[in-house]
Amino acid sequence: MTNILRRQAGQPQIYGHRGARGVLPENTMAGFDYLHEIGVTAVELDVQNAKGRVPVILHDPLLPMAHTRDAQGNWLPAPGPKVIDLSVDALRHYDIGRLNGATDYASRYPQQRPLDGARIPTLAEFLDWAQADAGLLINIEIKSHAHQPDLGDPPEFLAEDVAQLVQQFGLSARVVISSFDWRVLSALRRLAPDIARAYLSFEQQGQETNIVDGGALMDGLDRADFGGSLPALIAAQGAKAWCPYFRDLTPARLAEAHALDLAVNAWTVNNDDDIRSMIAMGVDGIITDYPARVQQLLGAAVA
Ligand code: MG
Repeated sequence: MTNILRRQAGQPQIYGHRGARGVLPENTMAGFDYLHEIGVTAVELDVQNAKGRVPVILHDPLLPMAHTRDAQGNWLPAPGPKVIDLSVDALRHYDIGRLNGATDYASRYPQQRPLDGARIPTLAEFLDWAQADAGLLINIEIKSHAHQPDLGDPPEFLAEDVAQLVQQFGLSARVVISSFDWRVLSALRRLAPDIARAYLSFEQQGQETNIVDGGALMDGLDRADFGGSLPALIAAQGAKAWCPYFRDLTPARLAEAHALDLAVNAWTVNNDDDIRSMIAMGVDGIITDYPARVQQLLGAAVA
């Protein structure tokens, strides 16, 4: 079977991260529209369940104070409430269209244009929109919290609910589901083997990593059973892609993944030098907050 996520070296797929976080409010329909307008044909978005097992598009398990205002227009004084405790109707009261300038987070995205009134989309709303764009590749990242299970639905629910929607909208062939919590991906392998899976990893020393052999986030898997190799372990799960943090990637690891027919999509690559280095290394996908910047560096900008 052909791996649709593989690309020619030097011609990576550009994935707009959370839509296009550097340009427009993250994980909003306006951000997804923007990708379409500039001719970017792949998107990454974050999904978790609201109350009643309804998948919605938002990164944090608690409503983030960095870009959320309540129905009265006040910034949240602290993160929360939990998304899992709110119905979709209740979530609709919040405005996520502007960064709170008092937060460090806001200073990271100085070019982000505000769009007051932007709402948290449901996954169904997004998939309905995506049906019309037959050329769009969709990377759904499922957010799941192995070490804090009270922050969301269990991995099996998330896998089932997202897969069901993807199938219902007839989009299995152009969706890839990724997660740092590989229990979600194991559940998907059983429930919906026709949907492509991508294994996210973060391995920087001294920081919180999901690569702990035998740990919950790796669903108990151990690199020792795969010659000590992360790409080999991931390929053995029937994965279509490995999504490493870009600084964890080396030419040798990339070559090993390619030999196993794994696509390699690096995240989150934002500055020019890093983008150039990933293009030169030959990755299959670049996940970026600045998709137009990658287009420009690839010389493929759509006028
Ligand atoms: Mg994500």
